[in-house]
Amino acid sequence: MNEQRVPYRVACYTLGCKVNGYESQAMLEQFERAGWTIVEADQAADVYLVNTCTVTQIAAHKSRQILNRIARLNPDALVVACGCYVDQKERQQEPLGGACGLIVTNREKPHIVQLVEARLDLPADEGRDFYISSSGAHTRAFLKVQDGCRQFCSYCIIPYVRGPLVSKPLEQAMQEARMLSESGCREIVLTGIHLSSYGRDLPEDIGLADLILALEAVEGLDRIRLGSLEVGLIDDAFIARVRDCRKLCPHFHLSLQSGCEKTLKAMNRRYTPDQFMEAVQRIRAAFPDAAITTDVITGFPGETDKDFEESLQFVHDVSFADLHVFPYSPREGTAAAQRKDQIDKSVKQERSSRMIELGAALQRQFGAAYSGKDVEVLTEEYDPEQDVWVGYTPNYLRVHVHGMIQRNQLIPVHIENVHQTNNGIYAEGFYDER
Ligand code: SF4
Repeated sequence: MNEQRVPYRVACYTLGCKVNGYESQAMLEQFERAGWTIVEADQAADVYLVNTCTVTQIAAHKSRQILNRIARLNPDALVVACGCYVDQKERQQEPLGGACGLIVTNREKPHIVQLVEARLDLPADEGRDFYISSSGAHTRAFLKVQDGCRQFCSYCIIPYVRGPLVSKPLEQAMQEARMLSESGCREIVLTGIHLSSYGRDLPEDIGLADLILALEAVEGLDRIRLGSLEVGLIDDAFIARVRDCRKLCPHFHLSLQSGCEKTLKAMNRRYTPDQFMEAVQRIRAAFPDAAITTDVITGFPGETDKDFEESLQFVHDVSFADLHVFPYSPREGTAAAQRKDQIDKSVKQERSSRMIELGAALQRQFGAAYSGKDVEVLTEEYDPEQDVWVGYTPNYLRVHVHGMIQRNQLIPVHIENVHQTNNGIYAEGFYDER
């Protein structure tokens, strides 16, 4: 047996969502606690983790490509494939279609160090907890509090690859938040595969509102931002409990997918456009500055021109602050992929372009309202090219700030202008030192 434990170098390449991002960081921290050295993905390493994604065909294709590229460039290293693309292939009992020396499923991620060290024939190492304790140099950190989804939206592969609901116990989430705060992080973003289900599997009768209220008490933490939410969560009781939370950011990503009732039903989404609008109104009544953002799919099987126009009109009526638009991409193994009434690629693209155009106009409208306003910004990084500090308002407006400032400061800023670029809008303003 090889007795050498360190120095061994590990690098990680991450694709996909914020949950994957959190898990990559948690895996790297585990390696670090076991004495490994963390290096960048483009540096020489003994082990490369590729945390894959399969949410769209493009993501799966990219995952395969990156596995192959890293294996080709590093023939002596161990390439470890993990993440949702891996789980999907395991479930379908298909080969990965990408080069790797070790496969680690989502459920095995908390044991990744032991699995890798066993594969390298290193002495056995005791298990370690799977969490992020440090925000590194970051002002804002993700805190994963939930995994799994049981909604089975007809287009989505995630419930098959992420498994049942698993929520992080409240005390453990608090403990992680405290560690992040002690490491300098002032904002946490609560993430999960289906965050709205938080607590359903825990023995205590608690939900997301309880978690938010508990996190309010974490010293040094100034902001709590929420990841993607489902409309069903936003009832009067939820709003009544969180409306006075001082640290909760008025930024709600409410997953819409379609504004057409017929399409929502075919997607197996569990709300109507009317119910969605009621949730939006509840949020706006309680949080007048709320930025409500969303995801929309265009060209779902069976979506007619009329259905699409309904969806477009609804998105306009809600007046979202920002949209993420996805042309429908069939995922093998889901109900929607088997439908015969698939939409032509060119029609999907054309509908996507129109939806993106509307999204840009709505974003412009949202930003324009901030010209001349005073806001609070948490500074995150310095941009030397423009000589500005970049940060965000509580409702996630990106702001470029002029003035003598440092990183990680919550400061008052007077907005002068709002600009639009191909990557979205940003505001420009001055640190108001009064
Ligand atoms: S709620 Fe629907 S879209 Fe979201 S992960 Fe679950 S099945 Fe997929």
